[in-house]
Amino acid sequence: MSTLEPTVIANPETLKSDGLGCHSGKEQMLTAAKAAGKTITLDQYAKDYPKGPHDQPQSMCPAFGSLRVGLRMRRTATVLSGSACCVYGLTFTSHFYGARRTVGYVPFNSETLVTGKLFEDIREAVHKLADPLHYDAIVIINLCVPTASGVPLQILPREINGVRIIGIDVPGFGVPTHAEAKDVLAGAMLRYARTEAEAGPVAAPRGGRAAKPTVSILGEVFPVDPVGIGMMLEPMGLAAGPVVPTREWRELYSALDCAVVAAVHPFYTASVREFVAAGRAIVGSAPVGYDGTEAWLQAIGIAANVEQAKIDAAKNRILPAIRGALSKMPIKGRITLSGYEGSELLVARLLVESGADVRYVGTACPRTPWSENDRSWLEAKGIHVQYRASLEQDLAAMREFKPDLAIGTTPVVQAAKQQRTPALYFTNLISARPLMGPAGAGSLAMVVNAALANQSRFDAMDDFFAGVGEGDNAGVWQEQPQARPEFREQYKKKAAKAAKASKVEEPV
Ligand code: SF4
Repeated sequence: MSTLEPTVIANPETLKSDGLGCHSGKEQMLTAAKAAGKTITLDQYAKDYPKGPHDQPQSMCPAFGSLRVGLRMRRTATVLSGSACCVYGLTFTSHFYGARRTVGYVPFNSETLVTGKLFEDIREAVHKLADPLHYDAIVIINLCVPTASGVPLQILPREINGVRIIGIDVPGFGVPTHAEAKDVLAGAMLRYARTEAEAGPVAAPRGGRAAKPTVSILGEVFPVDPVGIGMMLEPMGLAAGPVVPTREWRELYSALDCAVVAAVHPFYTASVREFVAAGRAIVGSAPVGYDGTEAWLQAIGIAANVEQAKIDAAKNRILPAIRGALSKMPIKGRITLSGYEGSELLVARLLVESGADVRYVGTACPRTPWSENDRSWLEAKGIHVQYRASLEQDLAAMREFKPDLAIGTTPVVQAAKQQRTPALYFTNLISARPLMGPAGAGSLAMVVNAALANQSRFDAMDDFFAGVGEGDNAGVWQEQPQARPEFREQYKKKAAKAAKASKVEEPV
């Protein structure tokens, strides 16, 4: 039996509907969550993931980021606690990404939520699942409604049968983007692993400890990028360490055991906090393009106390190859770029060094110290960098700069194609390829040039479909739809009359 008091919900009205956090009632949800004991967590999120210039960029449910980090890992189970429609959407997306892992779900209804029984159900589910034969860790994610009702995951046992239990709150009203939700779980795992390592010996990496000091890579990168980074580091007597988020639990220890952390994605605030607590130096930006690689090697060398001659040797080895790859694959054309992955500024640097005329870079992520070099490099070239960019800002940039190619999120790409501008999805087509070193320069140019060459196809398509209709006239019709503005006018008058009448009848 639980010794817990039943969870008190400050404003049960806010929690009645599925998926409410996405659409409305955000302030009420936040107030309810704070009244239900989540103040410390939510205040920390507000500090780690500052909002503004507006509340929240339009992107997918943030919890997907945490889910994805859990799904990456071997011997890790993820359990979602939230509304059925949210869980359906999240698991659907995880299957779409080919995760091939089971996601557990603890359903609830008004009664189990209000009485605190939901927490008991979660605890029972976790106990049933915690089999050390199959799992190193179980992650439980509170979505919007359970967070707002204060389901206290933090009092779950820290481990059951040797299986680590990690409960996190990832509400859409507290974590702005799915990128930052990755950090919520990665940071929680690093914290857990750090306390384990501080308490005594921990499991060694599968291939044994690295002979050289390592550079851990913070941020998901294309699989060949760590190999390229390893080659760049070699003349400095350094090796590439694990990528965080990691693929298995024991990699967390080796990630913490590094000499320097390369924060190639700049939004991992909670994870950086753990590395700093472990005494590690953090270096921002990434080895992209000529200038980016030169500055990055210098910063890594200094952070790892490497003598200047060796840093120069590393530069001399790789920089000519990067210059060669960039000049062999030039990009010609005006480009606007936006996304929510966190690598937008890096991609923009590479495009500029390839010769592209980049005018605007929008990112859903916040401004942090780890993208400062990229921001100042881009701005020095007259490029507008927009942090926490909204869809409206991305679209306005496209209208203003009239690019030959728009790289962006789904709605940006759709709008670009509608105005016969070639467009590429950032997430699927740009961030899912190598970016670092010579490999990055060549691979990005290939996809961008192919898209730029598509203008004539867009013109032909637009001419072909000319006159099929737009907005409420779009679609396949037997006859050409006729606009009937007089009907709309009539309904408007009737509605106004009805509203006036109901006002008169209102009791005083
Ligand atoms: S959990 Fe995600 S999908 Fe569900 S209400 Fe919150 S933000 Fe929306």
